[in-house]
Amino acid sequence: MEREKSSNIRHDMRTPLNHILGYSEMLLEELEEAEGDVSVLTARLAEMIADGGELLSRVNELRLPVPGGRSAIPGEWAQPIGRMRERLDALLLDGATRAQEAVVDDLSKIGVAIDRFHQLASQLFLGSAGEQTGLGQERRAVYPMEETPVPVEMPPEVSSDASLIKVKPADEGSLLVVDDDPANRDLLSRRLERVGYRVITASGGREALELIARETFDLVLLDQLMPDILGIDVLREVRRTTSSLELPIIMVTAKGDSSDVVSALQVGANDYITKPVDFPVAMARITTQLTLRRVTRELEEANRRLYRYSYVDGLTGIANRRHFDEFLAREWRELARRRAPLSLILIDIDCFKPYNDNYGHEAGDRTLKSVAQAIAGVVQRESDLAARYGGEEFVVVLPATPREAARDLAERIREAVAGLGLPHAHSLATDHVTLSLGLATVVPDVAQPPVSLVLAADGALYEAKEGGRNRVAVAVG
Ligand code: GH3
Ligand code: MG
Ligand code: MG
Repeated sequence: MEREKSSNIRHDMRTPLNHILGYSEMLLEELEEAEGDVSVLTARLAEMIADGGELLSRVNELRLPVPGGRSAIPGEWAQPIGRMRERLDALLLDGATRAQEAVVDDLSKIGVAIDRFHQLASQLFLGSAGEQTGLGQERRAVYPMEETPVPVEMPPEVSSDASLIKVKPADEGSLLVVDDDPANRDLLSRRLERVGYRVITASGGREALELIARETFDLVLLDQLMPDILGIDVLREVRRTTSSLELPIIMVTAKGDSSDVVSALQVGANDYITKPVDFPVAMARITTQLTLRRVTRELEEANRRLYRYSYVDGLTGIANRRHFDEFLAREWRELARRRAPLSLILIDIDCFKPYNDNYGHEAGDRTLKSVAQAIAGVVQRESDLAARYGGEEFVVVLPATPREAARDLAERIREAVAGLGLPHAHSLATDHVTLSLGLATVVPDVAQPPVSLVLAADGALYEAKEGGRNRVAVAVG
């Protein structure tokens, strides 16, 4: 209980510091592109980051509970707070700064965070007395700046991590930022938008789950500590239906909460970042996850294509021999179990050799395609399969189809191809391209090989050829 309280106090105190650091860093980033002299502003912001960082380590090292009976916030806390406030006030009075509305806006947010942190420090060190006094007054009462002026030095040069970020091209998809803290949402989303991401925000776990169910995101940045649903529970819920490759989720956790990190990774988080968010690190991790996801998707697509190709006949685009063999074997077993009839039609183009010899091989290929399409056009049922058996022969498998229905279908195939009216002046049957079809129907028996059905259909096909071509013959028995 006491531990939990301590961790809450730390969390509450880190939040405004994270805002101070976040807004300062973001402003520094933005000022790199600003016109005119912004050196004073950037120098002050860099100092703000230094003081904010110092306070952050004080929070992390804080021993709780603090001993009571104080009359003032300890100097090592009060001084950085005072310096930050003083710098900020000076900046807000500065004409050059005031000219930039957007900058003033963000500086005010830093101001709110400084005041908030100061209020929390007062509560911590001074007990309830600090809560009762007004915030502005309290600040002066605790460390009157008139008495102990803090020299504001300008460092010779300001460096920032922002330069690392510029390489990021603006080509990536949409991100969902989930955080109950409005300033955190504002900070993360603006910085991500600046480098080219589309950002949608959610203010809690419930809203996040709704958005994820409704919209497509490429990645989610998920805060762990939220009042309505914990980040890890949101994660668990999402992972019930969506894999880490479909939707990468990066957890945003408090520093030092290694048990949170471990359980998040176990539940299916792709990665994690800690607060205060180190933006270049966050960017690198986001990019890594998005790249991984893209590459995996490309690989999956390539595999699908490969799979499709390995089951499709290259010339005609219908199923190939391998597909037919596997399909027949499967249906043979299935229909033996169900004791249902399986029909197979073997189809051969009439006098195709003289066709090739007279019209050329290319014309032959075109005709093969037309015939395949005509056959596929008749074989529409989802459970049936039309395939190229080899050369100018095709095969149609009709599961759970009795002989008479199969004969009707074979007849319709014959008519469909004859109806194309493809000229064939060298056919023994007619003056256009026609088919001979052999049909066989059996209730499969697993003791017999599936090829027995093909042989029966081949026998019927021979009959059709003998009988004058352009006809359907049915195997008896
Ligand atoms: P029948 O009426 O008795 O079936 O006579 P046919 O000429 O069709 O018989 P045969 O099986 O002897 O001839 C098949 C011909 O089909 C031989 C070959 O030139 C042609 N053929 C097989 N595969 C292809 C192909 O992929 N493209 C082309 N253009 N022709 C092919
Ligand atoms: Mg043939
Ligand atoms: Mg033929």
